[in-house]
Amino acid sequence: MVKWRELRLQCETLTKQSKRLCRAPGRICKNGRIRCRIHGGVSTGPKTAIGKQKSAYNIIKYNEQRANYNRSNNE
Ligand SMILES: [Zn+2]
Repeated sequence: MVKWRELRLQCETLTKQSKRLCRAPGRICKNGRIRCRIHGGVSTGPKTAIGKQKSAYNIIKYNEQRANYNRSNNE
């Protein structure tokens, strides 16, 4: 298998939030476009129990951060 970084192609996708180019290293997909591992639709999410735990913990952490940020802005 070829490593992602060895090809040094940039992902062509525009990001949802800022409408700028995704800067992640990508590879050529079946349709001839360059996509990174996130935008290529290759990722199927966490598989091991530890990975699932980690991703759940990250969601909780992110929601807390957002709540704190909103509180500090309102006061
Ligand atoms: Zn991308």
